[in-house]
Amino acid sequence: LNSKQKEVIKRAHELNVRFVRLQFTDILGNFKNLAITINQLERAFTEGIIFDGSSIQGFTRIHESDMYLRPDPDTFTIFPWRPKEGGAVARLICDVYTPDGEPFVGCPRYILRQVLAEANALGYTLYVGPEPEFFLFETDERGRPRKETIDTGSYFDLSPLDRGEDARRDIVITLEEMGLEIESSHHEVAPGQHEIDLHFTEALSAADNFMTFKLVTKVIAKKHGLHATFMPKPIFGENGSGLHLHQSLYQNGVNVFADPEGEFGISDLARHYIAGLMHHAPALCALGNPTVNSYKRLVPGYEAPVDITWSDRGRSTLIRIPGAGGPSARVEFRSPDPAANPYLIIAAALKAGLDGIQNRMNPGKPIPESSYELSPDERQKLGIRSLPGSLREALDCLAGDALIREMLGKHAFDHYMKAKLIEWEVYRTQVHQWEIDQYLGNI
Ligand code: GLU
Ligand code: MG
Ligand code: MG
Repeated sequence: LNSKQKEVIKRAHELNVRFVRLQFTDILGNFKNLAITINQLERAFTEGIIFDGSSIQGFTRIHESDMYLRPDPDTFTIFPWRPKEGGAVARLICDVYTPDGEPFVGCPRYILRQVLAEANALGYTLYVGPEPEFFLFETDERGRPRKETIDTGSYFDLSPLDRGEDARRDIVITLEEMGLEIESSHHEVAPGQHEIDLHFTEALSAADNFMTFKLVTKVIAKKHGLHATFMPKPIFGENGSGLHLHQSLYQNGVNVFADPEGEFGISDLARHYIAGLMHHAPALCALGNPTVNSYKRLVPGYEAPVDITWSDRGRSTLIRIPGAGGPSARVEFRSPDPAANPYLIIAAALKAGLDGIQNRMNPGKPIPESSYELSPDERQKLGIRSLPGSLREALDCLAGDALIREMLGKHAFDHYMKAKLIEWEVYRTQVHQWEIDQYLGNI
């Protein structure tokens, strides 16, 4: 055992821990876990805990189903909502290994680790600040979500319009107890919609924190008799939920996206990074906007991006440069939504940004206005491209993007594509209520 592992075991005993949840994320972004007792923790660190990978989305084929979970001691924390008397519950986020002791190539956390190592070799460390939005819905007597949101509040509203304030408060308190730093929280524009901004951290922790945030939000909402959903566009005609990812690269502890002399306070390096994000944006949608429903959010008029543009303001651009710059200079990537697998979308964004840096790509002129109001001619003159309009289109873009495919590796790419193409096909062949209303009586 190394000193970090020893320290975790010591703390677990001090905190009266009885069960340890070993957590990991499948390829589609679902959080999974397996409980062990405290007596098994040492073995988990030294040997790993075996599980059946063939039952996990995107993991292995049947004939090679044994997989091992190896806990990352840096992720130790307690579930504050579980009983403390008679034995507390702790969790550790794990990396997935094969029986040969090799990191499993289909593990999303490993895919992110690899891109982070690549960035590191170039001297860069990525910091990410996730800004997740979500909705709180009423539940029925059996706890199932109903179609009504819990309030009719809007942006920055207070109680009594904001009926989510108690749940939101408890979510923030719980996350802080678990060691996350929360920047701010507020009611969002749509009825029943909320946002909790996580403080920026090194990229791997940012992805871990987002998974923790989602779990906590669901659990605490339930305690308040509510249902929290990360569905990107639950209500027609209202804003959807985004997962804006604020990103900055550091070199030797200095934010190299900052340049007080540069336009909007950002450096040329940041501009290349932006251009890389823009270049690969269609393929990134397949990972950052992973559901059929995601594309109902990426439409004009709801503060979500539609076109591949950037600027220092404007909520309809793909990339925004927030605030005054200075040491906190960063790039806000606005297309992802909270249904995304955070490991994969952060990995892909970094890979795209590094490509922009290495090839000294140019993002073109910033376009501060709503670009979707421009005429087709003007759009063409300015060279504005659009984001994919459907999951199918995005998957085709991913299949055609050699760099992002290579980053995923064959295993993850094949499994992801397969699962998502099925999802698309099932959706595509449904007859929706809108079609009945539109055609049945009229044709
Ligand atoms: N809810 C908007 C979206 O779909 C974003 C609103 C905001 O700028 O915070 O991305
Ligand atoms: Mg927001
Ligand atoms: Mg934002």
